[in-house]
Amino acid sequence: MDFDSRSPVVVLAGGTGGAKLARGMADVAGDDLVVIANTGDDVEMYGAYVAPDPDLVTFWLADRIDERGWGLAGDTFHVMDGLRELGVDIWFNLGDRDLAYGVRRAELLAGGTRLTDAIAELVAALGVAATVLPMADEPVRTSVLSEDRWIPFQEFMVRERAAPPIADVRYDGAADASVTPEAASALANARAIIVGPSNPVISIGPILAVPGMAEALRDAPAPVVGVSPIVGGQVVKGPTEPFLQWAGVSLDASGIASFYGDLLDGLVADEPLDALAIPTLRADTLLGDPDARRRVATEVLAFAEGLR
Ligand code: GDP
Repeated sequence: MDFDSRSPVVVLAGGTGGAKLARGMADVAGDDLVVIANTGDDVEMYGAYVAPDPDLVTFWLADRIDERGWGLAGDTFHVMDGLRELGVDIWFNLGDRDLAYGVRRAELLAGGTRLTDAIAELVAALGVAATVLPMADEPVRTSVLSEDRWIPFQEFMVRERAAPPIADVRYDGAADASVTPEAASALANARAIIVGPSNPVISIGPILAVPGMAEALRDAPAPVVGVSPIVGGQVVKGPTEPFLQWAGVSLDASGIASFYGDLLDGLVADEPLDALAIPTLRADTLLGDPDARRRVATEVLAFAEGLR
């Protein structure tokens, strides 16, 4: 197959590591960037349909992400204050603008709009040139089994602060979901497919659980390259460590490689990678500022394109 420079660069992402790499990739690939984002964390609350990972990716791409790592910079929280006044237990904070986006999305979905199109509306409204796709239009919901109780993901993550022991993970609805035409086309025509440095179990796992998604990655002519979410031997943010432990893989690049198995054609990480069976690139992968994000994206894309 002929790749041309206008083919999509696809990034699979959750809302933090993957989102930051996507922001760097937008500098490199411009409007060729297509992000396929996890929707296993989506939640309906306050009359809103909240899609945390697609929205965080969108806020990152629009340079509107708040410093705290979620929500919109400068957003206010008057509605949450009002609900608290009414005695509502607010464990999931949502800014006013963020809430407006979610309310509008709930309305669109109730009217029969696909999630893909509802997300595209916000992406366009925020002036983002890249494409942000949900992993599926059908609902898929991640939950965590802890001490005999299945805890919906946001409750586990936000209310319980990811503290409960992890006995199992499931992606409800995944079996009835399907790869969207937009995602299928992006993957089939991609010049590179990057599995972002996101939590493999709870951010990338649900994406790969969509029937046909793993096959679409394997069948894609483009190289599939992973970026390790472990920097300096540690997780930068979030509960990646207990989830990798649950998955039975080590907290290092070889653990990431074995988690993804034959899906990857190459792996990028900041540690020695000599023992791995796939081509590897050792690089400083901390995505802490715009220059670093651009540099890492440039290196990852060049490495992937060199694997063709
Ligand atoms: P979530 O949806 O908010 O859980 O976010 P992700 O799954 O996308 O991101 C969480 C992962 O991102 C963690 O495993 C972090 O180690 C990783 N991460 C965060 N910042 C960086 C970074 O600067 N570089 C790399 N390589 N990984 C990062």
